[in-house]
Amino acid sequence: MSTRRSIIGGNWKMFKTPSEAATTAKALKVKLINVEAVDVVVCPPAIDVLPLVEILKETNVTIGGQNMHWEDEGAFTGEVSAAMLRDAGCSYVILGHSERRHVFGEQDSDINKKVKKALSAGLTPIFCVGEKLDEREHGRTREVVKKQVAAGLAGVQLSDPADLVVAYEPVWAIGTGVNATPEQAEEVHQYIRELLGEQFSRGLADGIRIQYGGSVKPANAAELLSQENIDGALVGGASLDPESFTAIIKSAEKVN
Ligand code: PEP
Repeated sequence: MSTRRSIIGGNWKMFKTPSEAATTAKALKVKLINVEAVDVVVCPPAIDVLPLVEILKETNVTIGGQNMHWEDEGAFTGEVSAAMLRDAGCSYVILGHSERRHVFGEQDSDINKKVKKALSAGLTPIFCVGEKLDEREHGRTREVVKKQVAAGLAGVQLSDPADLVVAYEPVWAIGTGVNATPEQAEEVHQYIRELLGEQFSRGLADGIRIQYGGSVKPANAAELLSQENIDGALVGGASLDPESFTAIIKSAEKVN
């Protein structure tokens, strides 16, 4: 069993108005009252960050953004900056999510600038990588993940492994109901840890948490989370419901 503390993230994507978000956060506050052994991060739409920070203060739940721009400020209509997320109370930010890469055309070079900016602003990036279905079917999973890790983390300096979280999210498993098997996920997680060892150092790589994401549900969480190199989960659909998100967090507590 690893010494890395599990981290469960909830990616709310573009769901929940501020009042819906507040209702969910209040339910989570009650349900997660005794959860201490697992880090929990809720990443709502940007407009929901402030009410969530307020409702979840004095709990163990931290808040993250879903994306940010790499510039400090400027004429970038529709964007938010790292400093804005930080000042609003975020500790984390999801970067390079597959929907950002494949729906909005984000490139590895954009994600690299975002990772560097997040780190310098005191936000912990949840840096997402993962292959598409045809890439897996053509045996290209390692090649794709290697390129995403190398380009996304190029020139990144890290002194504390807690400052970076990596999420392995195979695109074919996101929102499809088809999760990677624990063996499939573990194989890629192990490989990502090797890559992180080459990028940083073996010692740092051993401490970096690698989450699995892709159709995690209460029914499959325990088996996935019990793998040696799976240190948590990034949960989309199942994080919208306080009941199922809490069940996944409790699975992580048991495996810890
Ligand atoms: C995600 O949005 O990061 C995700 C993994 O979604 P889902 O859990 O719905 O597959």
